[in-house]
Amino acid sequence: MKHFYCSLFGHNYVVTKKVTFHVKEYTCKQCNQQVTTNGNGKLTILTPKHKEINSVLERIHCNRLKRKSLILDR
Ligand SMILES: [Zn+2]
Repeated sequence: MKHFYCSLFGHNYVVTKKVTFHVKEYTCKQCNQQVTTNGNGKLTILTPKHKEINSVLERIHCNRLKRKSLILDR
């Protein structure tokens, strides 16, 4: 029935992880389907491959933020 609700009204996604400013991971509250933002800014099913890409993006993003705050501290 939960899946029926999703197919009727659409998934009820909540953000589970912020990868970068533009890329986030979401989980549907109804059916627990996980999705992520892809390169086109659209939602796509979160596959192990996407998780891998996101963890790399997250690392790059963190490093960038760190570097920026270092510059601001000077
Ligand atoms: Zn759903």
